[in-house]
Amino acid sequence: MTERSGSPYPRGISKGISERTSEGASEIDAPFRQPDAGFLVRGGYVLTSSEPEMIPDGAVRVVGDTITDVGTFADLSGRFPGCAVLGGPADIVTPGFVNTHGHFSEALVTGIAEEYALGDWLRTLIDAVAPRLDRESAYIGTLLGGVQMLRTGITLTNDMFVCDPRATPVTPGVVQGLEELGLRGVVSYGASDRRSGTAVEDVLAEHAALREAAAGSSLCRFRVGIATVAAQAPSLFARSVDLASSHGDGVHIHLHESREEIEHIRESRQMSPIAYCARHGLFEAPTLAAHCVWLSDDDIRLLASHGVGVAYNPVSNMILASGVCPVPRLRGSGIKVGLGVDGPASNDRQDMLEAIKTGVLLQRLDQLDPAALTARAALRMATVEGAAALRLDPLVGSLEPGKAADLVVFDGDSPALANVHDPFQAIVYCAGPREVKDVWVGGRRRVGDGELLGVDVPALVGESRELARCLAREAGLGELSLLAAPD
Ligand SMILES: [Zn+2]
Repeated sequence: MTERSGSPYPRGISKGISERTSEGASEIDAPFRQPDAGFLVRGGYVLTSSEPEMIPDGAVRVVGDTITDVGTFADLSGRFPGCAVLGGPADIVTPGFVNTHGHFSEALVTGIAEEYALGDWLRTLIDAVAPRLDRESAYIGTLLGGVQMLRTGITLTNDMFVCDPRATPVTPGVVQGLEELGLRGVVSYGASDRRSGTAVEDVLAEHAALREAAAGSSLCRFRVGIATVAAQAPSLFARSVDLASSHGDGVHIHLHESREEIEHIRESRQMSPIAYCARHGLFEAPTLAAHCVWLSDDDIRLLASHGVGVAYNPVSNMILASGVCPVPRLRGSGIKVGLGVDGPASNDRQDMLEAIKTGVLLQRLDQLDPAALTARAALRMATVEGAAALRLDPLVGSLEPGKAADLVVFDGDSPALANVHDPFQAIVYCAGPREVKDVWVGGRRRVGDGELLGVDVPALVGESRELARCLAREAGLGELSLLAAPD
């Protein structure tokens, strides 16, 4: 987008979380000023995504940024009487959700272009928007999408920012946004040289800038992004493989989302995209593949034998009429499958609870089997299995001593959760964003009583409107967007 006058980073949106951290105290942290004592998060049910899977009248003890103890409330409150207690006996506590696939690059183009399937949607909308994104839109888009994610219990998001490289690298704006939100991120640049005029060196410079930004963040990790196999000429693809293997980075790529994509690669490279990745060594790096809708038995064997994790994105698969990811077959082959909300332009909500429920319903409908995917399995996919798909399960994804204190408290006093016959089904089928009461990321509360802490949401919304209007006009979205109309 056109550079605007003044500071590239508008003030007044983030209330300065990092500055307050250095001061050591704020209203966010008020109950936790004695770091040694920690605090207890109590729930009528604590769902751990570990063993035991459910603790009635349970609690989690957090000290600093880490979970130190998990057990019954009676036991923990007896052993640690000095701890502040949050949550309550009617609430449900879960691990923070791991969103295994998203695109902050689409945050300003939501609710648009519903009539297109994937190929035309990419050509019509994404190809128009991607060349016009800059660091400011990356920063504001990340805040706008991240706020919605946190409100639905997401504490880690695996992002792929799709834009053209620019002289001032764009993607560090994602890291800045995540840092200010206090939201954990795996960040990647969805590199492509499909559009004319894109130089390989500029693509590599964008990767390098994002890697450097992530290295300076305690919340972010870098992966090498590849938009799709078709989006990269063989020469750039080879550089991407080199990049991922030489630095030990993971990879984030779209694979087998639509039949059109597979036919195209079969024609041009005489094998499926998954076989192409395997043949050229991409899967030697830890790889997260989004979608994996259309798969042969050979494709599944390749994914399983290389430990490729899969992101299942039921809402965007339905919106783009792509197809149904064969989740039971993948999981039955030992492949780790997480859930994803996908980008704001293809979903369009950034709502993990919607993705979890829709993910279950779509499998049941596809297989005409109410046992195709259970609530319990879906909750594991949204937490520890998603973390494992990203190879981050030693750090996050379950409530276990030693793991990062990423937790969600669901409000047991809300009408939707008034009567809990089975807490797994209550979360998957009954809960929505309104039931999300508190969210912690690394022991810091980011959502309190359903409100974002540390972010001026009205100011953010106002700022995003100006950017979205500008983007719609510059991208020429007049056929699709009322925002593109002249004043
Ligand atoms: Zn995607």
